[in-house]
Amino acid sequence: MTTHRAGFAAIVGRPNVGKSTLFNRLLGEKLAIVSPKPQTTRNRLLGVLTKPDVQVAFLDTPGLHAARGGINKAMVEAALGALGDVDVALHLIEANDDARIHPPQLETAQLVARANKPTILVVNKIDRIAKPRLLPLIAEWAKVHAWLEVFPLSAQTGENVPEFVDLLARYLPEGPELFPPDVLTDQAERSICAEYVREQLIRLTHDEVPYGLAVEVEEFDESDRRETGGLVRIAACVLVERDSQKGIVIGKRGALLKEAGTRARHEIERLLGCRVYLALTVRVEKDWTQRPNALRRLGYVPGG
Ligand code: GDP
Ligand code: MG
Repeated sequence: MTTHRAGFAAIVGRPNVGKSTLFNRLLGEKLAIVSPKPQTTRNRLLGVLTKPDVQVAFLDTPGLHAARGGINKAMVEAALGALGDVDVALHLIEANDDARIHPPQLETAQLVARANKPTILVVNKIDRIAKPRLLPLIAEWAKVHAWLEVFPLSAQTGENVPEFVDLLARYLPEGPELFPPDVLTDQAERSICAEYVREQLIRLTHDEVPYGLAVEVEEFDESDRRETGGLVRIAACVLVERDSQKGIVIGKRGALLKEAGTRARHEIERLLGCRVYLALTVRVEKDWTQRPNALRRLGYVPGG
């Protein structure tokens, strides 16, 4: 009989290295939103993978970067804070085209090392570099810190991901399941829906707008939802920081907001397994990313 193992593992790393993509890939479900822009993930998310002989509770986290105040500082604190309670840290880096270690990557590696957790260095995006360049890159990274392992994979194609789960399992403590086997996440459906809307708006807008966006679900009416199918009515408000952003988010004759709503609705319907009516409005909330009260209300800092 094989022993059962269970534990927590946090995925940390610089913005845009593919943490959320890996998190979704590991869980086989889109819980975290993904975009080509940095700082898409704002909160710590829990996702539970249950297999016959191992259960891993993964934490997806915001990117680690030099942050000063407001929401950026809250995001970095959420990421480093996630390391406190885990059995294993997964420090994700991306394989660069030049197959070299860059100085900002080293700084972040040192930040992670200071947390003093057993850490696996995961080299993501190996689909982007030529195979012969990979081994030298791994050898370089192995010198940086006493990693448990240095492991290459592609979160996007899934290459090496099953093998990664087997490897990680070996570093988790022996013990029974920590969560009931049918638990997938600690996120409420309504907050995942809000994130899906935010993702589409990030993707459709440019420049500074993504950083000033938040989405609040104001109504989530399930009275016509059925065991299989039915309808859920959702009303969500898009918050922006400035009047100029409001115009951008709405778009010409409402085109951008409409497109974002349509795309998000398709994804929400897939998530909820029923039809969805989605109504979006836009509101300016001046400089909310710098205001402690707003950050608390929107769940970006604890205590609210
Ligand atoms: P995060 O900020 O670390 O959570 O990164 P995301 O998961 O949001 O991904 C950032 C960008 O990298 C997105 O455009 C992803 O599609 C892309 N990406 C993630 N994993 C891979 C990968 O394995 N290969 C390639 N080529 N792109 C990836
Ligand atoms: Mg992310």
